[in-house]
Amino acid sequence: MSLTDPSKRLEAIPPYMFAELERKVAEKKKAGIDVISLGIGDPDMPTFPHVVEAMQAAVAENDNQKYPSNRGREEFRDALARFYGRRFGVEIDPESEVIPAIGAKECIYNLCFAFLDPGDVALASDPGYPVYTGGPVLAGAEAVVLPLVPELGFAPDLDAIDPDDLRRARLLFLNYPNNPTGAIAPEGLFERVIELAREHEILVVHDNAYSETTYDGYVAPSFLATPGAKDVGVEVFSLSKGFNMTGWRCAAILGNADAIQSYWRLKTNVDSGLFEAIQLAGVTALDGPREPLEEMNALYARRRDLVVDALAEIGVDVASPKGTIYVWAPVPEGYTSTTFCEHVLEEAAVVISPGSMYGPSGEGFFRISLTTPDERLTEAVERMREHLS
Ligand SMILES: *Cc1c(COP(=O)(O)O)cnc(C)c1O
Repeated sequence: MSLTDPSKRLEAIPPYMFAELERKVAEKKKAGIDVISLGIGDPDMPTFPHVVEAMQAAVAENDNQKYPSNRGREEFRDALARFYGRRFGVEIDPESEVIPAIGAKECIYNLCFAFLDPGDVALASDPGYPVYTGGPVLAGAEAVVLPLVPELGFAPDLDAIDPDDLRRARLLFLNYPNNPTGAIAPEGLFERVIELAREHEILVVHDNAYSETTYDGYVAPSFLATPGAKDVGVEVFSLSKGFNMTGWRCAAILGNADAIQSYWRLKTNVDSGLFEAIQLAGVTALDGPREPLEEMNALYARRRDLVVDALAEIGVDVASPKGTIYVWAPVPEGYTSTTFCEHVLEEAAVVISPGSMYGPSGEGFFRISLTTPDERLTEAVERMREHLS
């Protein structure tokens, strides 16, 4: 044992398996090759100007420079409640049913510490956002993956969950519109999940990172709009993707008041709340016009079509996703996720993400992110057409 050995919990996080792919990217860049990355899901377009201006004003106010309370500013909680009412038809009590979070990632991680003990299980939608499995492990509990089934529209097969896992499960993580598959909430899934949660006393955590990023007229619901959802669950809402605010760390948890009280209790021991200037800028974003969001979505939809068409030309057929900033596609015959991504890098100098990065059920797929500026994305797509056909 050495003084720098990490904890057993940290050691238990699965190793990062894509060092080899990253080494190859670095090697190519060093050799002067123009590598285009379609790997990362981080909006390339700026935060809307009216939000930036609200922040500039708020940051100058001495009142907003103090420790924030972990309950959050009343203005922000009210704005979130208004937004949930207007946008989703969900009634939220701003006093007891919403608390700001320093990003959805922080919120999900802290929920693990608020609700899991050693021996407990968290059921994690798979493929999925890595904190659904990393959070439970760091909290000393166990993550059990819940494979999303392509034939079920990327819903999990709830009847296939091991009875022992169900008995031990305390949390269930879901996310629609879904990263990385781009799937939207399958018909009836939320209703069935609520039934399961009631029967087995599991708290449902719906990660709502992409409700505002949808296409072709599809409007994503909130999980909380399903009857009974508030009895068994919470929703984590984030302004990161939909409002081009990833760097700001602006999110909230909404729903079951008792669960939110426990989250708050945990949080008061861990951090000191979301910077109040950011909360006030969040009010401006939530109350602001819809047009900037619609323009963003029109831009992503054009990029999505570009990618889907190019993939068809190289023999990869995918349905156009109705939401998120990703295209999820099966790798061609004869490849694994990793060998295909290495092949694309080698031939076209384009970085795409191996599906296996997002969990075992992601094997056999790859993910392309739509957050690369138009000219670069077009260039990447041209290269893939030329070198992979
Ligand atoms: C990007 C992303 C998040 C991160 O949200 P933050 O509020 O920026 O922490 C959470 N969940 C999913 C599924 C995401 O893709």
